[in-house]
Amino acid sequence: RDPLLDVTDLSVGFDGFDGYADVVGNVDLRVDRGEVVTIVGETGCGKSVTTKAITGLLDEPPAHVDGSVEFDGMDIRALSDAERNDLNGDRLGMIFQNPLSSLNPVFTVGEQLTDTAQFGGNKDGGILSYFRQRHNKADREGARERVLEMLREVQMPDPEAVIDSHPSELSGGMRQRALIAQALLNEPDLLIADEPGSALDVTVHDRILSLLTDIIEERDMSILMITHDLGVAREISDRIYIMYGGRIVEAAPTEEIFEDARHPYTQGLIASIPRLSGTQMASGIDGSVPEYTDPPSGCRFHPRCPYADDDCRGAEPSRTSFGSDSHAVCVRHSDDGPTPTIEGTKHR
Ligand code: SF4
Ligand code: MG
Repeated sequence: RDPLLDVTDLSVGFDGFDGYADVVGNVDLRVDRGEVVTIVGETGCGKSVTTKAITGLLDEPPAHVDGSVEFDGMDIRALSDAERNDLNGDRLGMIFQNPLSSLNPVFTVGEQLTDTAQFGGNKDGGILSYFRQRHNKADREGARERVLEMLREVQMPDPEAVIDSHPSELSGGMRQRALIAQALLNEPDLLIADEPGSALDVTVHDRILSLLTDIIEERDMSILMITHDLGVAREISDRIYIMYGGRIVEAAPTEEIFEDARHPYTQGLIASIPRLSGTQMASGIDGSVPEYTDPPSGCRFHPRCPYADDDCRGAEPSRTSFGSDSHAVCVRHSDDGPTPTIEGTKHR
């Protein structure tokens, strides 16, 4: 184990019109050096909020963030804004879901990416970026060359034209490629990718994912990837965290998730991947993700779980570990075992 990112007991809540929303809680997760780790869950399960909290991108308030986030031994949450800006875009690369809102419409792709190449995440022109600029041997031209090179690497069509275009002149897929290039420019130690390409149509999405897969294979980079698609996670990850209702409900190395899923939600996700369950009539999981202002009592999955009983509606289940990398949060696996029911072996 060589953790590059180490998150302990992260929680995020928001003050809203309907009262306090406990959106993410008890999140422990780790990305080792050179490891590809994925967080999988449905839309609305708290994945994006988790990654935003990790990278310090949530405004507090209205968000309330608690817990510890260590990046290479540094406490990210204790950094000043300038220090964090310097880290984001330099040692930490980020790719977000919506390529339109992540690029500034006013500047050309080249201007934005060249800034990143020169100043990392710190584009405010403060003393720090001035300092960096002076000590960066690459002048603006050199940085522009690096941008062109990176645009080629992400298979951008016609990079020489794209570099002088505004984001509005590019297709969604091209914008997503520009953002991937931007995230990789400074060879980050950790790349955080939140559903890259998912806002695009299926074919483009697939191409973006295969591009990312190639990039992952070629580089010795740690990745934290967010996806709603367990099939995608299977292709790229060393380890998987399954998230439901703002909680990590299961964690395990990828093969273990597919061979021995322990949590009923994980089992449901696997059953709804058609090519794995061998049927187009995949069972899926009925119901929808919980409301955070009024979450279900006890296990947040209980309204949708085929095994739910009174134990599950009581307290939130505790975590049961299976070796150092695997755990599940479900009474069916709790150390005390399930409370015997009249049927006796109902649970196992
Ligand atoms: Fe299902 Fe109960 Fe386990 Fe929750 S704790 S996943 S409701 S069996
Ligand atoms: Mg999301």
